[in-house]
Amino acid sequence: MKSEFTSAFQRGLVSCGDCHLLSRWPQGGSKINAICPRCGSKLHQRKPNSISRTWALLLTAMMLYIPANILPMTLTSKFGKTQADTIMSGIVYFIGNGSWGIALVVFSASIFVPLAKFLILIYLLLSVQFNQVWRPRDRSLLYRAIEAIGRWSMVDIFVVTVTVAMVKLGLLANVAAGPAAIYFAFVVVISMLATQSFDPRLIWDLVEEKG
Ligand SMILES: [Zn+2]
Repeated sequence: MKSEFTSAFQRGLVSCGDCHLLSRWPQGGSKINAICPRCGSKLHQRKPNSISRTWALLLTAMMLYIPANILPMTLTSKFGKTQADTIMSGIVYFIGNGSWGIALVVFSASIFVPLAKFLILIYLLLSVQFNQVWRPRDRSLLYRAIEAIGRWSMVDIFVVTVTVAMVKLGLLANVAAGPAAIYFAFVVVISMLATQSFDPRLIWDLVEEKG
């Protein structure tokens, strides 16, 4: 079946990553050192080592997600007593307090979104590695979703900051961000980098190859 679409790759063209100039991909053995004729930047038809880089970053983010959940996110001290709260115990605390809205925001930003991101990236990586041509449009959509949602994961850090500020203004207790906040910030940044290093065009290359 001949597709109605043609990619730059199929036409032997490559777009410069820096200045977006479209140039002819060199034929023969000089591909490794191909440079953009206009700005001199290195040319790549696809993001280099996309699959292994994405796996490495994803696994790092997943490992950091463990201390982010086990260690305390907030340290509250009141009348000389200090209470450490993890993400999960924080959610339970907000629910107990009747603050359903905050509980929901913390749950989506710190539990639901990161886990959904991990699972989607694992699925995309495996689908490309195992040469799947199944529903490429939907897989592209999943990719765009995690790309768009990435920056919102920082909402959780904001919630911590706001809680700290609220409690301090209320003079009820003294609150400080716990060590989990740092791990969580790394999880957010590294999983964003993992998403960036995945090349969604790989999904379509397989479709073109098999089509
Ligand atoms: Zn260029």
